[in-house]
Amino acid sequence: MSIKKQITIIKNEIKDRANLIAVSKTRSIQEIEEAYNSGQLKFGENRVQEIVEKHSKLPKDIEWHMIGHLQKNKVKYIAKFIALIHSVDRISLAKEIDKHAKKENRKIDCLIQLKISREESKFGLQINDFKNFYESLKNYDNLNIIGLMGMATFTNDNELVNEEFKMIKTIYDDMVLIDSRFKVLSIGMSDDYDIALENGSNMIRVGSKIFGKRNY
Ligand SMILES: *Cc1c(COP(=O)(O)O)cnc(C)c1O
Repeated sequence: MSIKKQITIIKNEIKDRANLIAVSKTRSIQEIEEAYNSGQLKFGENRVQEIVEKHSKLPKDIEWHMIGHLQKNKVKYIAKFIALIHSVDRISLAKEIDKHAKKENRKIDCLIQLKISREESKFGLQINDFKNFYESLKNYDNLNIIGLMGMATFTNDNELVNEEFKMIKTIYDDMVLIDSRFKVLSIGMSDDYDIALENGSNMIRVGSKIFGKRNY
């Protein structure tokens, strides 16, 4: 099925509950153009080199989202144009984002990535560390925390995925009450965005369901 058809199907499922981030990592300029020509303006990438190259080659009204693990020494390459960084999970990274945002004379919107799955390899802040982490971000005026991101366990066990999304939604709801900037809950990917939407997601990150299977 075409990229355009897939986007239409997903947008119909979402209705107006959530923003769709088309995850275009590993996809060609042509594939992204096809999505763009069907009206998709928000794209997510997980590698700095790739996002910088695609940003330079594609239309300037595209909103670029950094959704993957971000190395400190690469923040400088995206600070000028990045729309939202979903993966803030340590102070050293927050400090670096703040520094480069200042240099660019802007504020950079960010999400705190929480580790909600029990899998070993996933990045993200431990839930027990969340409050302290959030408090220490108050020192960084040019880093604007507007919500949370999480990735559920990669499993067929929908009940487990449901529990993990419920956990992050609870924390998100608490934060909305105390911090008026909080407005984004970024949960849900190709295989679990239906469960994420049931749990109050308002931003889903979908790759393979739009562009087809990736080769890794
Ligand atoms: C790759 C990726 C996605 C999209 O995954 P799909 O299963 O292809 O939809 C979403 N979020 C993050 C952080 C990713 O790295």
